Amino acid sequence: MNTFSRREFLRFGVLSAAGIVATGYTGTLAGCASSCPDVIAPPTHRRRVLADLHVHPMMNTWLRRTPLAVSNPLLADIAENVFNTTGMTWKTCFEAGIDVLCAAHFNVFDEWLSMPTDPNPEAPANTLRMIELLEEELTKPENAAYAKLARNRIELREILSHRKGDPRYRIAVIHALEGGHALGGRIESLDQFAKRGVALITLTHFFNKGIASAPNAYPFFPDAGSRWPAQGLSEFGASVIRKMEELGIVVDVTHSTSTAINEILCVSTKPVITTHASARTLGDHPYSLYDEQIQEIAKRGGIVGIILYPYILSNFRGEEAAKEHGSLRDVVRTIRYTYKICGTHKHIGIGSDFSGYIVGPRDMKCLGEIDKLRRMLLDEFDQDEQIVEDMMANNVIGFLNDYWRSGQV
Ligand SMILES: [Zn+2]
Repeated sequence: MNTFSRREFLRFGVLSAAGIVATGYTGTLAGCASSCPDVIAPPTHRRRVLADLHVHPMMNTWLRRTPLAVSNPLLADIAENVFNTTGMTWKTCFEAGIDVLCAAHFNVFDEWLSMPTDPNPEAPANTLRMIELLEEELTKPENAAYAKLARNRIELREILSHRKGDPRYRIAVIHALEGGHALGGRIESLDQFAKRGVALITLTHFFNKGIASAPNAYPFFPDAGSRWPAQGLSEFGASVIRKMEELGIVVDVTHSTSTAINEILCVSTKPVITTHASARTLGDHPYSLYDEQIQEIAKRGGIVGIILYPYILSNFRGEEAAKEHGSLRDVVRTIRYTYKICGTHKHIGIGSDFSGYIVGPRDMKCLGEIDKLRRMLLDEFDQDEQIVEDMMANNVIGFLNDYWRSGQV
């Protein structure tokens, strides 16, 4: 397959989008992703349902605010309805009994369109705006009835003390950042993020932005033309890790190359996590982790959050085949495998990546349907409710309680 340089790739993307608009896109905007029709209520109020390490509740709202979408609302419609096919709403997540959502903030413009000034000096301010947008969203009465922001682990504990069925029950929502490009190349940005209670930062994303190298997540996303070294963790990246540890922000190694992950593991002195991961042995993608890395993260007390994205979890012929055949079976298989190679279930979590432009399992299109996964895991793990509850929620909640220290009041 032909590969593009980063600039060519961007030019190609912008021209394609312009072409769609210019030719008057009239295709059916298939299945509104955010409608989430099939909520399944938890069978009992006793058990926790899900602490999702990685989800994008604000992606559509944020993209709608960008100048490109404001001037071309049709582009936003296409993006949301054609490409963002996994959905979630606060209400459906509430009805499904979900406990925690780590809301990953990601600004595509700071990562993709800032390349001439890489890293974008405006990225920290844009990130704070995304943080504010989520906070505003959660104070609206129609959302406040379902979800509440946890700015630190004390607030998290308070929110989680009210179980389902109690009128005070709310989903605890936590700020997380996807991609160290949010720092804009300045380590001081971390102070502001810590103050706002950002709990987790994924160090790198699709492109190496001077912190750590990123693998080719998709064949058409080459990192060619990058001005940063092609491999591993940079000096700046190492200082970012040290500062994050000081501030009590958890390091997320997802999206790092295997070389970068090894170097992150050398530099870090506290447990690290991978919020939305897959195993290389089962899904041979550069994005996926080797067994030794999964084992090392677990051995150091971290969490391996399994993504709900079959294409990445298994060896499908391509994305189309994954779309047609990929299901929650791929998720369950990866969880079983991770359990096997770690020798315990205590370091397993879920990072759905829902509403984040992934192609979800064909049998689950909305986070409100999370009970489907719980039931399949019960079948896989001999109906052991404790093990399933731990993997879906308790391990992550316990980890946040132990290692999240930012945002203290
Ligand atoms: Zn991601």
